[in-house]
Amino acid sequence: EKVPVQLEHSILLSNAMFQIQISPVLNEGRFLGVVVVFHDITKLKELERLRSEFVANVSHELKTPLTSIMGFVETLKEGAVEDKENRIKFLEIIEDHSKKLYSLIEDLLLLSKVESQDSVSREEEISLEKMISRILESIAPMMLTKKVDVGYGFSSLPFLIHGDPKSLEEMFKNLIENAVKYNRVGGKVKIRGVREGDHIKISVEDTGMGIPESDLPRIFERFYRVDKSRSSDTGGSGLGLSIAKHVAEKHGGRIQVQSTLEKGSVFTVYLPS
Ligand code: ADP
Repeated sequence: EKVPVQLEHSILLSNAMFQIQISPVLNEGRFLGVVVVFHDITKLKELERLRSEFVANVSHELKTPLTSIMGFVETLKEGAVEDKENRIKFLEIIEDHSKKLYSLIEDLLLLSKVESQDSVSREEEISLEKMISRILESIAPMMLTKKVDVGYGFSSLPFLIHGDPKSLEEMFKNLIENAVKYNRVGGKVKIRGVREGDHIKISVEDTGMGIPESDLPRIFERFYRVDKSRSSDTGGSGLGLSIAKHVAEKHGGRIQVQSTLEKGSVFTVYLPS
């Protein structure tokens, strides 16, 4: 044929995917040979795969609480609404799952916002100790229920950092909330801030259950949870750490974790000063 032919072919050797275009070369109708062009579309294919995996994950996460809400509404409609003893319990379950859905959607919106930014303006000056005490106020009920004591110390005061206040607060809130949530009852959390050369190091250390070594490389992935059972009762979306990682990176920094099972974990954020 005299029209370019396109086909996709995966080459086993390198595990890469190429789009190959073969065009005939003609001179005054005479066939001289062919030109073959290889386009490396490995990255594109990987992105496509990640995108569809993400859509599948999101759908699953949304469907689980919704199924439960629908189930309890149905039960109430079918007569449980007359059942004085249980109807409030059913409504509370519906409320609980609705809140879960709401916070999942909030996390998704936040994640897509931080992911779409190239970088953030680091002009604004923020007092870290003030930010931390705001966060501690907001999670006080959780700290009380778990009887976890949170302490903090900074190498200098005021401890100023630069960046986007909203997303930085979200990052530290996720880290501190996790340190309380995955702690043992009566455990401790220690937050430290120090300046080291050209960067700032902020660590959140807990005395909790720790993270198995085999899970460590994956905990910053979207929706990754170490063990479904440990977070399903705490209501986590599995998005907190991936939001935190993106926020640190958009500020030109990074985030690191060290953990020992049954002893605890330390999450360390490095930000340029
Ligand atoms: P989640 O919303 O489930 O808390 P995250 O993205 O914040 O999601 O965390 C991912 C997983 O990493 C959690 O499900 C939890 O199992 C584990 N994890 C996070 N922080 C800690 C911690 N401080 N101690 C132990 N495990 C943790």
